[in-house]
Amino acid sequence: MMTPPLNEILEARLGDLERAGLRRAPVVLDGPTGPRVRIGQREFLLFASNDYLGLAAHPALAAAGIKAIEAYGAGSGASRLVSGSLRIHAEAEESAASFERREAAILFPSGYQANIGVLAALAGEGDVIFSDALNHASIVDGCRLSRAKKAVYNHGNLNHLEDLLKREAGKNRWIVTEAVFSMDGDVAPLGGIVDLANRHGAFVIVDEAHATGVLGPTGRGGLEDSGTAEAVGVQVATLGKALGCAGAYVTGSRRLIEFLRNRARSFVFTTSVPPVLAGMAIEAFSLVDREPERRDRLGENRRRMAEGLKRLGVAIPERRSAIFPLVVGGNERAVELAGRMYEEGVLVPAIRPPTVPEGTARLRLTVTAAHRAEDIDRVLNVLGRSLSGAA
Ligand SMILES: *Cc1c(COP(=O)(O)O)cnc(C)c1O
Repeated sequence: MMTPPLNEILEARLGDLERAGLRRAPVVLDGPTGPRVRIGQREFLLFASNDYLGLAAHPALAAAGIKAIEAYGAGSGASRLVSGSLRIHAEAEESAASFERREAAILFPSGYQANIGVLAALAGEGDVIFSDALNHASIVDGCRLSRAKKAVYNHGNLNHLEDLLKREAGKNRWIVTEAVFSMDGDVAPLGGIVDLANRHGAFVIVDEAHATGVLGPTGRGGLEDSGTAEAVGVQVATLGKALGCAGAYVTGSRRLIEFLRNRARSFVFTTSVPPVLAGMAIEAFSLVDREPERRDRLGENRRRMAEGLKRLGVAIPERRSAIFPLVVGGNERAVELAGRMYEEGVLVPAIRPPTVPEGTARLRLTVTAAHRAEDIDRVLNVLGRSLSGAA
């Protein structure tokens, strides 16, 4: 039998995506990311990135990266267990631990790798993982890799979580949740989750991807915000969102971190993060504390956006994060709206399944500390026109 041409098979599958309104292709930006970006000769307002504190284009961050490259070179050589940690890896991990006020930290090349590494290393056959229905794909994949039984509780629903905790027995039991949900922007009920975990003998893992730098009196995230840091043994955080770089880290006890260094496969079997990233991470932690006014500006921008949306009659529940989901339902409608806004020079992504559940396609607007008041007024204007035009 002859092997069929792969490209034909793929073309057919892409055609299926196309017909479902799910075929995607990223725009190419000619220059750095930020509140204003360029595509060719045209300037766009960007309300899509997770660069909540506006650090991605911060000169001090770039300078720290350049300094790290000058001191340690471009590449890191191999996995750290093979060719050794660079001093700057150790320093970045000390910075992460001290930033989070925890015993120790471990760097990962990405949040995706941190989540699959942590879940598959900690949970195993005979265990149960209790996972929020809206948890990120990297958590979903980590659950699969772990071979533990997965019990999915309805989004943010403590009653349902408790039912499942009563029903599902296992060797070790783990509750995993995002602190701020990436596509909805709401905050997990961490206090209630910790309470249930204590009463039912489960461990808690919290993914702070969209909370770090945003929530809490000093921007440490959802655990600081809810006063649950003591009770949560495993904290995953990313460097690629509010911290403006890329990569991720996990913090917790010295034992936890030593265990992950040995058993997290996405740490063991991957080339360690390049010096540039370690150097930038150290600077990013410091910037969060040195420039707290960025958090204030983010708060002001968030309020301005929330009030503006309310005036437009867009129903969006109270948000404490920088994420505003405008759920429109159908994939085509979301794409159409995003297209209208693009025509007017505003980049807002249409988020579709599998990123969000079927039938909940949406525009996802994010504000950052770097947006000006007039940027927000402009996006609200354009949104208002697009909504009425597309109705
Ligand atoms: C973005 C994100 C990740 C993945 O982090 P990367 O560093 O981008 O791989 C993990 N969890 C959540 C909740 C996220 O939003």
